[in-house]
Amino acid sequence: MVDQLPVVQEEKDEARPQRPPVDPATLAHRDLRSGPFWQVIPAFADVDEATFLDHRWQMKNTITKPEKLLQAVMGLASDEFLKDAAEGFRIAPMAVRVSPYMLSLIDWTHPYDDPIRRQFIPTASTRLPDHPKLTFDSLGEQGDAPVPGLTHRYPDKALFLALDTCPVYCRFCTRSYAVGPDQEMVEKVSLKASPKRWEVIFDYIASRPELEDIVISGGDAWNLRAAQIEALGTRLLEIPHVRRMRFASKGLAVLPQKVLTDDAWAEALIGVTKRGRELQKDVMLHTHFNHPNEITDITMKAMGRLFAAGVHTRNQTVLQRGVNDDVDTQILLARRLAWIGAHGYYVYQHDMVKGTEELRTTVHTAEVLEKHVRGTVAGFNTPTFVVDAPGGGGKRGVHSYEHYDRTTGISVYTAPRVKPGQYFLYFDPIDLLPEEGQARWADEAEHGKMIDEALEQARVSFESD
Ligand SMILES: *Cc1c(COP(=O)(O)O)cnc(C)c1O
Ligand code: SF4
Repeated sequence: MVDQLPVVQEEKDEARPQRPPVDPATLAHRDLRSGPFWQVIPAFADVDEATFLDHRWQMKNTITKPEKLLQAVMGLASDEFLKDAAEGFRIAPMAVRVSPYMLSLIDWTHPYDDPIRRQFIPTASTRLPDHPKLTFDSLGEQGDAPVPGLTHRYPDKALFLALDTCPVYCRFCTRSYAVGPDQEMVEKVSLKASPKRWEVIFDYIASRPELEDIVISGGDAWNLRAAQIEALGTRLLEIPHVRRMRFASKGLAVLPQKVLTDDAWAEALIGVTKRGRELQKDVMLHTHFNHPNEITDITMKAMGRLFAAGVHTRNQTVLQRGVNDDVDTQILLARRLAWIGAHGYYVYQHDMVKGTEELRTTVHTAEVLEKHVRGTVAGFNTPTFVVDAPGGGGKRGVHSYEHYDRTTGISVYTAPRVKPGQYFLYFDPIDLLPEEGQARWADEAEHGKMIDEALEQARVSFESD
């Protein structure tokens, strides 16, 4: 006798919840810019694809002088903008370096609103005074450096500043205390890529058995030569307790051509990653995209080469006003990163850096953005929004403050595992505060009072945990 199959009750289709058809607008992250978009720039009008993809051509034509940069877009951008930017450069305490690729991704017919322009090219008319509580090395990286160029703040991980140059220079850079050629206004700490300086760092790492995780940054690992990547990578992998390494670089965002045409360099990175896998050690590329416009068909191809070779990527974004401080941009960025195969890792509250007040935004903004982004893409593609607490508290979840007053813009964080007993303050930009808060900051006698109030409330909150 054959068993009777159970009778399946037919479900009525109309009883099931029906998802409406997908809104095509939500798939916009798949439309990557392609074709010879650079040819709108007069200087690149005759540049063919092979030339544009050549990393040597990109490096050779990278612009390091404000006058040259503005010359390159004359006729595209308005005279008013060009004058404003020339003055912006004159008063900026940061070096200039913009690749032809980045230059071509800017919409020069609307330069004031362009999210890429804002990251690299200052304008005098939009400049705001620095916050009175801003200090030079705002992250206190020097304070946690046992040897020059190595920050050992967290128990098991350290930040290795391997060199002091980058493929581009960003206005908002946290490490403006070290990277780029000296500007008149700031005296820099020397972090050159010298074998002697590195040896001291390797010895320190080898002498500290608790160090399992090394971040190789700078400057920017993109500017290390192939042989340097190999030497540094191999040396660190040889240290038995080092189990995890990341090469941190903005290169994939600003010069993806290097992955495609600098074979020696790409193979060096791939080789270190492969050696790591053989040793059961995790070697990753950490990159730095801030806006969906930075991700093109060229990025996709570069990611393709890395992906196929087993090099995986995580992304860190800096939250910037007028660049990516709105929900739609953050969601498009999260989706586009996922689409090209990068994992969203962190979105950083903008550090307190000289001359960048117009790019900072409030802790409240970061909290709202995180709420909207979470749930958009897979959990492993969802970035955590963090504040790198000024004064050396390290990264804290934006919403994990002990106290936050949206009127004074003061937030207070603790880091019990990293710096027990200490309190760390972040300050929202004053121009975004309600009138009452702005008035208090206008009166110097109030500064200490506001901070004492915030610290007192934070203490009460922390101690009641
Ligand atoms: C960011 C950072 C690290 C790495 O921290 P993760 O949270 O693991 O990404 C290590 N050391 C310093 C000083 C850092 O700023
Ligand atoms: S690439 Fe990175 S280290 Fe270099 S200037 Fe930009 S943010 Fe700073």
